[in-house]
Amino acid sequence: MHNFCLAVLFTTLTFSSNAQIVSCIDKTVVTSLGVGESGVLDVNAKWTNASTLTVRFLGGSLYIQQKIKQYAHVWENYANIRFNFIEYGDADIRIGFNRGGYWSYAGTQAKRINQNEQTMNYEGFNENTREIEIKRAVLHEFGHALGLLHEHKSPLSRIQWNKPAVYAHYLQMQNWSPQQVDEQVLNRYSVTMSNKDYDPASIMHYPIDPALTLNGYSVGWNTDLSPGDKKLIGEMYPFSTTTTSTGGNNASTVYCTLKNITLDHNVYIGGKYGMRIKGTFQVDNAQGRRCKFVTCFYTSNGTPLRDFNQQYYSSNGNVAVGKDIVPNYSSTLFTNEELFIPYDELHLLNGNHSLKTTTSVFDDQNREIATGGAAYFTYRNGPVFSDIVNVQSFDNTNFKLVVMPKFTIENARSEQFSVVAYFYFENETPVTYYDNGLGQYRNLSFSSAFAPGYDITTYNYGYYSDLFLNVPYSYFPSPGRRTFYKYFTAIFKDGQQVATSNWATFYLDK
Ligand SMILES: [Zn+2]
Repeated sequence: MHNFCLAVLFTTLTFSSNAQIVSCIDKTVVTSLGVGESGVLDVNAKWTNASTLTVRFLGGSLYIQQKIKQYAHVWENYANIRFNFIEYGDADIRIGFNRGGYWSYAGTQAKRINQNEQTMNYEGFNENTREIEIKRAVLHEFGHALGLLHEHKSPLSRIQWNKPAVYAHYLQMQNWSPQQVDEQVLNRYSVTMSNKDYDPASIMHYPIDPALTLNGYSVGWNTDLSPGDKKLIGEMYPFSTTTTSTGGNNASTVYCTLKNITLDHNVYIGGKYGMRIKGTFQVDNAQGRRCKFVTCFYTSNGTPLRDFNQQYYSSNGNVAVGKDIVPNYSSTLFTNEELFIPYDELHLLNGNHSLKTTTSVFDDQNREIATGGAAYFTYRNGPVFSDIVNVQSFDNTNFKLVVMPKFTIENARSEQFSVVAYFYFENETPVTYYDNGLGQYRNLSFSSAFAPGYDITTYNYGYYSDLFLNVPYSYFPSPGRRTFYKYFTAIFKDGQQVATSNWATFYLDK
């Protein structure tokens, strides 16, 4: 709350008058999938938990360097990561001042950049830069450096942008073209990225002037880490309870030091796509004891995924993949220990799934002796449907009811589906009719086949209806009074139901 009030104050005071404010440019590279493919869409940019990241300046005055160090170190209070500022040699993060704008590569994406090039930039930082601006920008850019992404581009944000005003604003403030504004402000990430909930107080959120939205929504200049930022980064880089609370180097205590944990998405092994985890770690004081290297899977809100076939599971019946590791020495280094789980072993329905995974090492007493922290990702499985909203019209010339399901379907171009409408009386007993061919009564339903023509296909939201079911009035009974009906529609693929609507109602006077 305190942050929010402070931020609002900044908005009203300085929003349109402060030309020295610079918005951060998004340098994120997002992995994408082809049409119709299932898999993980996210950037995979988390460093190994408990890492020390080296940081080197490529220029900048001593004053500015000290300021950047001061605010970068703030993250160390909430993330089990250390920033070690070095004078010479290779560094994980290189900070320059001569390129345009403020920006940073996200997390381990910095590894793709040559050592002689910078991975983070603060254009125009000098002794005259306001303290609050340095603080805000450094916290934000080091958030990127830890793997966090822009909060205003979260698909969960639902910001109702006033687009012409947004283009005009960023043209004036940043000299950005409409295309740059699309990329940096308006476009949302296709999936939830590292952040599971939308957090308008996040340091990773751009400010939004109320004039830039259709409903007056605004976000101020966030200048501190929000509670959500601290919680998220603490989950991604947790402080180990075992190694710190039991005094680590005590020879009788089993402990584990993570060297490198990597997660590779969309890996093809043994005829299946899935996720590969590799771990390099050292286990001490557990000679000859059966320890475990394990990855567990959850929804993004922390609910474990349930296992159904005892292929990849933990003792409590949740989805997990793991292997035994038995140290041969009092201090044993395990190198590139590999785990692989096919995506179909996550047992997920069709759609986009926001998920969380944690990788840990356990001792022979099932005590966690090291944790890699939470990694968030979105898994897309098969076609993705929006909510289905049914509308109907009455064709009294041709004596038929026309049912039009309105929905959007993604990731299913040219695939074959059918939509079926099921009809009930008000009391939810099925409407039946006499089938002369069968010589018996049947429940009333009507279906139509369809095949989406685009990667994202929208039905029945335009002026013309392009997918509908014609149901002649003759199929309904004629009690001689007004009768209320209800119906729902379901969509099928290969005989499997993949989406359903809520109830819709209508009446007929017949
Ligand atoms: Zn940024």
